[in-house]
Amino acid sequence: MSLAVSRVVGPELEPIAEKVLAGERLSFEDGLTLYRTHNLTGVGYLANIVRERLHGAKTYYVRNQHINYTNICNKFCKFCSFYAKRGGPAPYEMSLDEVRQRLSWHSDVRITEVHMVGGINPRLPYQYYMDLVRAVKETRPGVHVKAFTAVEIVEIARVGGVTIDQALADLIEAGLDSLPGGGIEVLSDRVHHELFGKKLNGEEWKDVARAAAKLGLKQYATMLYGHIETDEERVDHLVQLRELQDETKHFLTFTPLCFHPEKTELEHLALPTADTDLRNIAVSRLMLDNFEHVKSFWIMNSVPVTQMALWYGADDADGTVHEYEITYKDGEFGNKSQVLTRANMIRMIEEVGRVAIERDSLYNEIVDNEPEKPVTARRLEPVPMIKS
Ligand code: SF4
Repeated sequence: MSLAVSRVVGPELEPIAEKVLAGERLSFEDGLTLYRTHNLTGVGYLANIVRERLHGAKTYYVRNQHINYTNICNKFCKFCSFYAKRGGPAPYEMSLDEVRQRLSWHSDVRITEVHMVGGINPRLPYQYYMDLVRAVKETRPGVHVKAFTAVEIVEIARVGGVTIDQALADLIEAGLDSLPGGGIEVLSDRVHHELFGKKLNGEEWKDVARAAAKLGLKQYATMLYGHIETDEERVDHLVQLRELQDETKHFLTFTPLCFHPEKTELEHLALPTADTDLRNIAVSRLMLDNFEHVKSFWIMNSVPVTQMALWYGADDADGTVHEYEITYKDGEFGNKSQVLTRANMIRMIEEVGRVAIERDSLYNEIVDNEPEKPVTARRLEPVPMIKS
């Protein structure tokens, strides 16, 4: 090890640095050390070695649109501010026409991916989900449809009275291209029991992942951090994902998601700091040696932290987004229009000395020199209240 590396990492991280430089897999104990050391700079420095080994200075972004088709949910997760509840956002479920309308609002902007997730709304029939995917494909031909977390897949199968395999096969036939991460938050029985006991557990989440892999569907993976999880549970989550990826090889990207306590049952908790955000990016990059990509989702992490994350292990900054209803900004319900134009994305990346590369959902690089049309952030019209 060179003197320069040794001076940055210090004696505490030197054994881990030796492994990183040799391309060796890190252990559970290494993960704990990385979470607990005060030397965040050393952790980030090592993560950046791995990031640059895989991708050099390239930083990927996608032009995408999010659709959150319903906020009615019977799972009542304590960390969630999205689902309709007393004093919170009004309940809604989008008709297919409303989905088409939202997609058409941005028809003047090139979008390659539509990301769709929603609450677990037992009133929606099986056919709704198939028609939803078809409506997206018909309205925006050629887009990649990334939709439905594992918990939604379980609900779709339940309401249809079919197996997980059959539900996935029907969704693929309708046009589904990949599954987003989410649905499990942290692979820990304790956290599951305390925060989201009505949702599927870790083993059920893995069963959906295995079924998706068997059918050739790509999937993304996440971890929600900054609530009640311990360092041990974070590392265990990463190790479990790493083992699953060894088995299935179908995960494309890992995204650590910063918990936002506003308007949740955990509002008494403090928002995670930039140290926590950067540390989770860096430790993920170091532990998940079989994941090609680590993403900093700018909506959750903020643009400034995402810029720093590009030097702490992240090689992806997500996308233009257009609307996002899961996390509310400024403590308000209702203002859900969050957008970075393509020019904004490129500027965010290049300002910190990285090379911006537009990608599709499967990380094929896109070359598009057409000038961008101006995008106006649109304030969403209210979706009519559902009467129950
Ligand atoms: S996180 Fe998902 S499943 Fe849990 S309450 Fe929110 S919308 Fe429902």
